[in-house]
Amino acid sequence: MTEQRAINGVAEMVATGLVPGDAADALRPVEEAFRIRMTGAMRGAVATPDDAVARQFVPSVAELTIRDEELGDPIGDDFHSPVKGLTHRYPDRVILHVTKTCEVYCRFCFRREAVGEEGTLPAPDLMAALDYVAVNPAIREVILTGGDPLVLSARRIKGLMERLSLIAHVDVVRIHTRIPVVAPEKVTAEMVAALRGARVWVVVHTNHAQEIGVAAEAALARLADAGIPLLSQSVLLRGINDSVAALEELFRKIMRLRVKPYYLHHCDLAKGTGHFRTTIAEGQALMAGLRGRVSGTLIPTYVLDIPGGFGKVPLVRDHAEPLGGGLWRITDWRGGVHEYRDPAR
Ligand SMILES: *Cc1c(COP(=O)(O)O)cnc(C)c1O
Ligand code: SF4
Repeated sequence: MTEQRAINGVAEMVATGLVPGDAADALRPVEEAFRIRMTGAMRGAVATPDDAVARQFVPSVAELTIRDEELGDPIGDDFHSPVKGLTHRYPDRVILHVTKTCEVYCRFCFRREAVGEEGTLPAPDLMAALDYVAVNPAIREVILTGGDPLVLSARRIKGLMERLSLIAHVDVVRIHTRIPVVAPEKVTAEMVAALRGARVWVVVHTNHAQEIGVAAEAALARLADAGIPLLSQSVLLRGINDSVAALEELFRKIMRLRVKPYYLHHCDLAKGTGHFRTTIAEGQALMAGLRGRVSGTLIPTYVLDIPGGFGKVPLVRDHAEPLGGGLWRITDWRGGVHEYRDPAR
């Protein structure tokens, strides 16, 4: 396989054949509104224009359709931000936006209005955020997000891990990243060494089996071999992974790579992303299709991040309905109905 270079902007997408030349003019306003970038690894993973990989990164005029319900800050990051770069929504955990940069700019990104600005969180802000964590013993977990935290150098990640390790009440550092899949060469031996032994869990963002190439497999193996527990999060995307077969293939593939599917996100109400969004009922039907068909270990929780900053909730289809008097109506994975009497205490 030949090494491919990263592609920035519409002109480079035209030059590499991802966008037809006569479509470039219509995409100019998209480029003005949202960053455009894909890595060489993702360019290499595109098999045909408009396939499941291309659609995630190649801009479309559909992004210019902003629906009434779509928001600049769809999950309410800014509603619970006591210090710059930090969101404290749940009592026991915070998210820390260490950078706004990513290796790729996903067309459906939930933080698309925030990502893309150059640079990392300035040192004084990072210091203030870490001080906030240090004086709040209720915070048991620090989640590094962005942008993509692993765009930082291994040296900076190592420094951050060392600083966090000095805060005794922080049990877990969780890193949400797309880099092992989209830029696997960035998971260097130095990066793995910086993460190893630092109470780190890595949550890999991946949406389709086709985007996980041999280099990504090797990067995930380097992390797993270092003893770093791996979870995944995926976004349910119309025309990309909205079939039981696509989800099954993705989850089987990552389980083999020692990554446990954690969350399947209902596509957030970010501006210009309506063409990617399924209905909740469609998402629930897909989850029901997976149940029983694949191992329970492969099944993530399908979640909605409630607009306005109210947090994530599982979008479960109920299998248990109370009938009163300790009697329950239970529906199995095939749709069969059973009565279950809850033993009295
Ligand atoms: C998603 C998110 C978390 C993490 O939620 P989990 O359900 O623990 O994965 C924490 N804080 C904020 C603000 C979030 O958006
Ligand atoms: S990698 Fe994550 S934060 Fe960056 S553009 Fe994609 S979805 Fe957004």
